[in-house]
Amino acid sequence: MITVSSPLDVNRIREDFPILHQRIHGKPLVYLDNAATSQKPKAVIEAIQHFYTSDCSNIHRGVHELSERSTYAYEEARAKVQRFLNAREAREIVIVRGTTEAINLVAQTYGRQRVEAGDEVIITALEHHSNIVPWQMLCEEKRAVLRVAPINDRGELLIEEFERLLSARTRLVALAQVSNALGTVNPVGRVVEMAHRRGVPVLVDGAQAAPHLQVDVRTLDCDFYAFSGHKIYGPTGVGVLYGKAALLEQLDPYQGGGDMIRTVTFEKTTYNTIPYKFEAGTPDIAGVIGLGAAIDYVQGIGMGNIAAHEHELLLYGTEALERIPGLRIIGTAQEKAGVISFVLDGVHPHDIGTVLDQEGIAVRTGHHCAQPVMDRFAIPATTRASLAFYNTFEELDALARGIGRVQEIFGAC
Ligand code: PLP
Repeated sequence: MITVSSPLDVNRIREDFPILHQRIHGKPLVYLDNAATSQKPKAVIEAIQHFYTSDCSNIHRGVHELSERSTYAYEEARAKVQRFLNAREAREIVIVRGTTEAINLVAQTYGRQRVEAGDEVIITALEHHSNIVPWQMLCEEKRAVLRVAPINDRGELLIEEFERLLSARTRLVALAQVSNALGTVNPVGRVVEMAHRRGVPVLVDGAQAAPHLQVDVRTLDCDFYAFSGHKIYGPTGVGVLYGKAALLEQLDPYQGGGDMIRTVTFEKTTYNTIPYKFEAGTPDIAGVIGLGAAIDYVQGIGMGNIAAHEHELLLYGTEALERIPGLRIIGTAQEKAGVISFVLDGVHPHDIGTVLDQEGIAVRTGHHCAQPVMDRFAIPATTRASLAFYNTFEELDALARGIGRVQEIFGAC
């Protein structure tokens, strides 16, 4: 039996999350679907409410007081993201709708400018569809080749095989720092080193990493880094693309419209400086301010404390689930974040999810937008419990009991 220890006062922390204090089908809510989206602390909800009740105005264009306040709060949030990622400059932080848009932005700008027929883009076998499809679309358009670095049976990247794929034709490497389907933490630092030795830039999909690990883009030395606000306890509809300034400056705009221009005539438009060149139109101002509040919140707890607590939860939950006969965990990498994906003999994941829901337990079932990962493990789907710092050891006991209930109902072994 594992000894339970945590650097966090989780019961105190849970008071900050109003949504967690409810009953579902008469049972206390156990929210274990954090990889899909995480819950929001009062500080985030209040920051959004404050914007709409006191400061609401469009940004960058007004001289009046409300516009100045909105602009200040929006740019302050950008500066918070910069410090959170340890980016060198605030102009390296592009505000987008989420990880998906960040990756598409790079594919449609960097990709379209630099990738030609016969060139190659390398991804890995554990990517989310968001880090597959934009590259596939680009490669189809350019008649380029998408290369996929394989993983082993534990769900770990085969780094030597990855290195073998790097060639004079490689124009970009794009990989997740943490897999949403398996929990694997990729050795991103080594990947960047290997790629850079050949002059190849690297995009890191940090959707599942930024909420759970200390991220430092300067230490990683990655060229692009993407993450989503809603997975880091902030609002939906906002996200971040970090890009090294020198690279961003060389890229053409992504979309045309207001705010991304310097001058417009019918003959010619000149573009704004970075990051505004990539931020056409009115952004989700309240969302960005909410993201800033979320970053303040997690930094108040400490990313090191968050990672340590979630690691203890992962060990505890893994041990509890491994004791269940007929249950197999998919994704057993040495370096893992708080994701426990599993299959259960004789029961379809959707049935598991439905029974667990009746027990008040929210998990995700399906392919988790990572169909190639399911194919790699020759399964159609998994049930996935994904953890956050507000989860407790008792909730993992409830999950184990819930799976026992599933087995009673379906008469599984
Ligand atoms: N990449 C990974 C690893 C993810 O887990 C997700 C979402 O689950 C995404 C990208 C896409 O994020 P979003 O839908 O917020 O754009």
